[in-house]
Amino acid sequence: MKGVPVTAWIEQWHHDTTRVVDLPLPQELEHPECMAGRRLPRLHRRIRQRFPRPASRDCCTYHRQDWALASQTAIRLLSQVHAEGVTGEPAGSRVVELATSEGLAPADVAAVECLVDTLDPISLDDDGGIYEGRHRIQAMIDQGVTHTVLLRLVLLDLATGAPA
Ligand SMILES: [Zn+2]
Repeated sequence: MKGVPVTAWIEQWHHDTTRVVDLPLPQELEHPECMAGRRLPRLHRRIRQRFPRPASRDCCTYHRQDWALASQTAIRLLSQVHAEGVTGEPAGSRVVELATSEGLAPADVAAVECLVDTLDPISLDDDGGIYEGRHRIQAMIDQGVTHTVLLRLVLLDLATGAPA
């Protein structure tokens, strides 16, 4: 189309609720120490992902965070915000506002934000591997979190509106 650069597209973000058990198993974690060099073979780690043994740990910032609370809050507020017709990037900002106004502790608001904001969300790459969020996913597995939020980016051709 004339006047429209071929590389022009619109970024459209989608918030999807996902089961943690459906996420890829995090690999290649070199730090923190509590996540590096997990001795369990892959099959055992998969089984642990499916049948978690929740344990509270105080070893690092990932494990200190209550990801069940953050995930539940994010899922609940997203569904509220979606019902109000707000989607994509603005939905993430609105969820953070609501979480703050509910009186959630700052660290918990930050955890909710890192699940719903488009800056650094848990997301998958084109091959279905984890693009971002390995440590958060591992901490969720260790805590027995069942559901969380996955962000998906769809690029729409500016000229046609079709997925690029
Ligand atoms: Zn840890």
